[in-house]
Amino acid sequence: MNNPHLHLRIETTKKSRIKELDTEPIPFGKIFSDHMLVANYSQGNWQDVQIIPYGPIDLSPATSALHYGQAIFEGMKAYKNSNGEPLLFRPDANHQRINQSAERLCMPAIPESIFIDGLKELIKLDDDWIPNKNGSVLYIRPIYFAVDESVGLKPSDSYKFIIISCPVGAYYSHPVKLIVTEKYVRAFEGGTGAAKVAGNYAASLIADREAKEKGYDNVIWLDGIHRRYIEECGTMNLAFVIDGVVVTPKLTGTILAGITRDSVLTLCRDWGIPVEERAIAIDEIVQAYHQGTLTEAFGMGTAATIAHISTIGYQGEDMILPPVSDRKVANQVFQKLEEIKTGRTEDIHNWICRP
Ligand code: PMP
Repeated sequence: MNNPHLHLRIETTKKSRIKELDTEPIPFGKIFSDHMLVANYSQGNWQDVQIIPYGPIDLSPATSALHYGQAIFEGMKAYKNSNGEPLLFRPDANHQRINQSAERLCMPAIPESIFIDGLKELIKLDDDWIPNKNGSVLYIRPIYFAVDESVGLKPSDSYKFIIISCPVGAYYSHPVKLIVTEKYVRAFEGGTGAAKVAGNYAASLIADREAKEKGYDNVIWLDGIHRRYIEECGTMNLAFVIDGVVVTPKLTGTILAGITRDSVLTLCRDWGIPVEERAIAIDEIVQAYHQGTLTEAFGMGTAATIAHISTIGYQGEDMILPPVSDRKVANQVFQKLEEIKTGRTEDIHNWICRP
């Protein structure tokens, strides 16, 4: 470990459940690997950092995160290269983001020695759980929440940080149909939209449910003030290709700064594809669609990778986008990202980290 002062206790499982991995297709997020990392924060210090067999944890019903939602999380993935060695994609970016989310919710920062070094040890121990077939990988879920046994509303004095992981197949097995919601709003300036706060996701469920009832996969959120500018979608940032330019909503503090988004924009810039990060009004998308200049739309996120958007529903009309086979940018970035994540191409940006 980087930090020689931090003691990591490791207790390995007596009986691996790896046979559960034989399920095909692997259900998303339901089978968990053998081990988890657990660290506690109390009295101003991180302590009891350990890797132990995956299992239930003891919590009081007064655990403050359960009442007031002082809870944040991250999402990342581990891959394997052709020699079967585990690889992580930009874990430093997830570490930085969880600490930004932590700051927003008055929680102490998680040191690199726990988030990064602890994660590496966990992945080394559970590397057999990284599936190496049919696009399946190991999804890693760090969670961080307040554990004071108290119903007084204040920042907790004690916290728990846990990392669990689960093998996953593709999040979307088909191009996605999205609908613009004018009824609900995800985030406002000054709110928690840019943080990976558990409550953001709870608040989004009703819009997602109503979208599904109408036959769509998820919603496109608009800004909360003008109800006009595109924000993001479910657990993905959005990009559109209009007249050969990749346009994506600017990070204004209401949307999550996706690591996939940043990687996609970096690759596009590397390739000389014009990129614009700016406000995108939904009317601009409708207009570009009718003029035939909207050639691609896609979501970007760790779980979904690059998700082609087949349809955008808005005010009762469906905009049906060109076939996926014609989508140059999304297909090219998807391909390149897969190659980088599995060590099949040069990693010029140093995105790959070996546990
Ligand atoms: N927006 C939201 C709301 C998300 O939950 C996610 C997933 N973390 C993303 C965008 C994409 O972020 P990333 O590429 O870092 O997974």
